[in-house]
Amino acid sequence: MIRFLRLAAPALAVLCVCSALAQTAPSQTAQPQPLTAMPYSPSLDVSDLDRSIHPCDNFYQYACGGWQKKNSIPADQASWDVYAKLTNENEQFLWGILQTDATAKDRTPVQQKVGDYFAACMNTTAINADGDKPLQPALDRIYALTNRADLLAAIAGLHHDYPGSSFFSAGTTQDDVDSSTIIAEVDPSGLGLPDRDYYLKTDAHSVKLREQYTAYIARILSLAGEPTPQANAQAADILRIETALAKASLTRVQRRDPHLIYHMMPVTQLQTLTPAIDWASYLAQQQTTGAPAITKLNVSQPQFMKALQTELTTEDLDSLRAYLRFHLLTAAAPFLASPFDQTHFDFYSTTLRGVPAMPPRWKTCTRAVDQNLGEALGQEFVARTFSASMKAKTQLMTEQIEAVMQQEIQNLDWMSPATKAEALRKLHAIRNKIGYPDHWRDYTALKVTPNGYFGDVIRAYRFEDARQWNKLGKPVDRDEWGMTPPTVNAYFDPQMNDINFPAGVLQPPLYDPKLDDAPNYGNTGATIGHELTHAFDDEGRQFDSKGNLRDWWTPEDAKGFEKRINCVRDQYAGYTIVDDIHINSRLTSGEDVADLGGTLLAYIAWKKETAGDHLPNIDGFTPDQRFFIGMAQWACANERPEEERVQAATDPHSPPFARINGVVSNMPQFQKAFDCKAGQPMVHTPTCKVW
Ligand SMILES: [Zn+2]
Repeated sequence: MIRFLRLAAPALAVLCVCSALAQTAPSQTAQPQPLTAMPYSPSLDVSDLDRSIHPCDNFYQYACGGWQKKNSIPADQASWDVYAKLTNENEQFLWGILQTDATAKDRTPVQQKVGDYFAACMNTTAINADGDKPLQPALDRIYALTNRADLLAAIAGLHHDYPGSSFFSAGTTQDDVDSSTIIAEVDPSGLGLPDRDYYLKTDAHSVKLREQYTAYIARILSLAGEPTPQANAQAADILRIETALAKASLTRVQRRDPHLIYHMMPVTQLQTLTPAIDWASYLAQQQTTGAPAITKLNVSQPQFMKALQTELTTEDLDSLRAYLRFHLLTAAAPFLASPFDQTHFDFYSTTLRGVPAMPPRWKTCTRAVDQNLGEALGQEFVARTFSASMKAKTQLMTEQIEAVMQQEIQNLDWMSPATKAEALRKLHAIRNKIGYPDHWRDYTALKVTPNGYFGDVIRAYRFEDARQWNKLGKPVDRDEWGMTPPTVNAYFDPQMNDINFPAGVLQPPLYDPKLDDAPNYGNTGATIGHELTHAFDDEGRQFDSKGNLRDWWTPEDAKGFEKRINCVRDQYAGYTIVDDIHINSRLTSGEDVADLGGTLLAYIAWKKETAGDHLPNIDGFTPDQRFFIGMAQWACANERPEEERVQAATDPHSPPFARINGVVSNMPQFQKAFDCKAGQPMVHTPTCKVW
């Protein structure tokens, strides 16, 4: 399970073939073309500054104000930032590869799969001509359910055959307590809004959004043939069911506590919680034929499963059928004819996030290939963009930053030797994965055709679903990656105890081989430090060197950690995101601590790397100033207010301005570099420091 990312995690469950990533990028020009080479922009650009702002008043605005003026949000985008811009360039580059792979004569098996998947997705004439026909067999299956017993039994088949997780989801994961084992897990699911709080909040904005959501449900049901009055009534029923499930779900902050979402139990105990589902039969249907029966599993939220039992047994049959039809439709809509795709977009992107226009088709299809055949397409990407010297330099930076972390842990004045020994053991066990996997995923068993996009989507869903279930009973593959190589993001995985940097995030304007160390350590170095610090944030610190959930802290040291993280929580809770919405710093403190610790580690590593060198001023800035400007400029962003509201409710990361100002205002090194004085906004009192 991947928990900690540098950027907002795309809202995708492992088994979900949902809509395209919400955070990724748009086109800069009216008619973009495929790129044959990656464009270059430097990782420190003085023309991105806003020199009318004093750096000690608002460093983020100073470092990024010029960028913000030059980079208005494209019409197909909820927000626009340095990472999104690079993502867009990667996508344009992949587009060129895919166009070639779609039409070339002599293709490798990998080129055939990615090229044909892309071609089928691009063929909107065929997709539109099909309407919702490809989904009809599944919809008919639901219409044919005329009694409750049949309906409850049918959920297993629907989960196995189609994307979309009505009511709950089931899958596999590493065992929190024994990370060498893969277990089955059942989780809450089946809410169409981004978070349980959307169903429960009573402010005017939330009430209106629920009305808009209900209208969306009715619209998509009527597109599939339901007469309008029935569709309207069913939409109200569906909202009622989802609200009951939302009430029984843990909040995002609660879910940050691994103990609250760990309840290993025999399948028989789950059977007692939710007798409406025949769990032995359900689980057998998810697994491949011949796999040994599952006898125990993690039920992450038992209270939810109890509430589910009530819904499944007290809601009338028509409401439950409508709920199943809607969840099938809303998951499939992006892959169906234009009216479905457009309706889905209108609600989830325009209403919810403020995005005016759909992305161009090439972008949707490039993302679809990346999502479903990412390690096939990734091979083509890496061969063209990621040199051995880039890999070597970023590997070296990672090792240097780990060495600094070791020194910092050894020097902590608030931690006992016993806890330090465990922390160092964990640090030394962390694996660094840079660029791309050592072994590429084998897609041989996945059939892809250039005609019939929906068939490709469903086969890709089943391929991935089977791949996940097949992990049961086998050793954990520690070489597996949770992101594809072109991804502009990075993560720490507490159970694998590894940090992962795809090739996509190690390019200009992030890692910049043309520039000197100051901005590179400020930017990429701080990202490496960020992921490393996640191993020791409020969640990560609960896992040991083997990736097991085990408390290795003395009570006194745990108290010391809490005191320090509370300093950060108090500071960030003071920042406003949009309107009167403040940062929920109990949700964001893991990321905030990673931002703070990561920047400090990178700064120390840079100082060591360049010790004794004479570093010149460049463009009128000292080396220290350039380190901090480089660090800030990864975060330059513009966001729509609708998107800011969604992020405030769902994103464990603070908004960009806080991710920069919150960090530098706690760093005396920054204050010295820019000569900031006590009382200025970029000098936070007290100075918070965790790592
Ligand atoms: Zn992070």
